[in-house]
Amino acid sequence: MTSTDQSPSANFIRYIIIDDLQAHKYDRQIMTRFPPEPNGYLHIGHAKSICLNFGLAAEFAGVCNLRFDDTNPSRENIEYVESIQEDVRWLGFDWENRLHYASDYFEQIYDYAVQLIQKGKAYVCSLSADEIRQYRGTLTEPGKDSPCRNRTVEENMDLFTRMRNGEFPDGAHVLRAKIDMASSNVVMRDPAIYRIRRASHHRTGDKWCIYPMYDFAHCLSDSIEGITHSICTLEFENNRALYDWVLDALGVACHPQQIEFARLNLTYAVLSKRKMIELVENGYVNGWSDPRMPSISGIRRRGYPPEAIRNFCERIGVAKRDSTVDMALLEHCVRENLNESTPRVMAVLNPLRIVIDNYPEDQVEWLEAPYHPDNQQMGSRNLPFSRVLYIEADDFMEDPPKKFYRLAPGREVRLRYAFYIKCERMIKDEQTGEIQELHCTYDPETRGGGAPDGRKVKATLHWVSADHAIGAEVRLYDHLFTRPDPDGAKDGTDFKTFINPDSLKKLTACRLEPELANAAPGSRYQFERLGYFCVDTVDSCETALVFNRTVTLKDEWAKIQKK
Ligand code: ATP
Ligand code: MG
Repeated sequence: MTSTDQSPSANFIRYIIIDDLQAHKYDRQIMTRFPPEPNGYLHIGHAKSICLNFGLAAEFAGVCNLRFDDTNPSRENIEYVESIQEDVRWLGFDWENRLHYASDYFEQIYDYAVQLIQKGKAYVCSLSADEIRQYRGTLTEPGKDSPCRNRTVEENMDLFTRMRNGEFPDGAHVLRAKIDMASSNVVMRDPAIYRIRRASHHRTGDKWCIYPMYDFAHCLSDSIEGITHSICTLEFENNRALYDWVLDALGVACHPQQIEFARLNLTYAVLSKRKMIELVENGYVNGWSDPRMPSISGIRRRGYPPEAIRNFCERIGVAKRDSTVDMALLEHCVRENLNESTPRVMAVLNPLRIVIDNYPEDQVEWLEAPYHPDNQQMGSRNLPFSRVLYIEADDFMEDPPKKFYRLAPGREVRLRYAFYIKCERMIKDEQTGEIQELHCTYDPETRGGGAPDGRKVKATLHWVSADHAIGAEVRLYDHLFTRPDPDGAKDGTDFKTFINPDSLKKLTACRLEPELANAAPGSRYQFERLGYFCVDTVDSCETALVFNRTVTLKDEWAKIQKK
């Protein structure tokens, strides 16, 4: 058991549900839902909501629906609908036959609006958008009643029917709930619940020219589905009064309980679909699935395993107060998973050629190397060793400082799973002085990594055999932003100003052990001493292998924890 799958971390919603179950509040199983608007790709913040909703349902023998909150036709499309389903499934959750669309309820929601009118609790308002804003008042001043507020039920029915029938241009009228223009909660000052909007909807096409507002459609969709706990983020706290008002006014059979929790904020990331769209559309990143993006498709392509994301979401807990989680914690969860789950292989990112002068020209020997030191079940492979090898260029220094224990002239080091080698001389480019290759000798007595005479070396290097190695491109990623809070500039500087120009580095001359020629897209490895990498699912193909670095080996989170 790893340290992250210990007892559940603080989650106040879990306790609400436990209480409800103990009090037999429901005569049926609990039901939650994840309600994305299909107006962008999902991000890691949504993962928190997905894990919470599906996780609680699973924990308490309930069910969780996937519902598209598709009430705003102008920003929504089918590409988003599909990507969202792929992402939820990838995270490991299953909505079974409970895939819903708010748009499937348009007829019912319309009927509810009619009921409100008939009860005298909604009216058609013909003020312009600007006027409505002026009449609304402010946080400190009450609003003013609209001159349309006292229209009769008949007048309202007539106008609302004609709104539906397309007799008025966009914006000519809205349907408003008749609540209280003096309410201290601005949300309750006769909010619009229907508007005229001529836009083709991704599911209903041109059938409708009026659409329900989010606050009206959301609570009714929850109620229609029989949701017990409607979990949403804190920005909807003020909207809860309206949620309850609508359901009470209509006297519906199912009145779910809305519970708000703090959304996930993450350092070095912007978790907002609108801002992510800006990054994609202006070419700051290569699409939604760019491995630097905090989108689910980005972190999937980057190599983050779904188990690690679920683990992270459990670990951060669920609270009522907004906070920002350190990206290092997310990376820690990923590393912790990959440390156990990935085979370890050898890859040289910046190759330096070395020739073993005392190794026979045409000889090759195969050295057994386990895939994981602590997990025999992963098995092993044989590594070819030959006269010409590559090591990492920065594992050699001509004139090493005190604490550099790796290879240097006259010094002996171990090659992982192979032999001790000693650096005898260097060959430099006469013009540039750049080191071109090293000439070394090896000690055949040290096969497997130890010397019979007990002499020690201070470093073990990774390496590959030059003739056997395969080429690959390796992409190294750094934070997408240069500051941990790209949105936090006091002077309001735009977040895009803080994009890190060095967030992607492509190394095109990498050499990998031959076993990796068969690595399937998406498969994950530890490259010994370098980090965790996965085969890119977009740009990798049979003729060009491309790896993404998922995370480095160094654990910043462990360091932060020790401080
Ligand atoms: P964004 O602000 O990124 O555009 P959104 O809230 O508009 O997101 P929705 O599609 O409405 O996106 O979100 C679906 C669900 O995911 C909602 O219940 C919302 O509360 C939740 N959610 C969105 N962002 C976060 C986040 N950062 N942390 C936790 N839950 C989130
Ligand atoms: Mg939203």
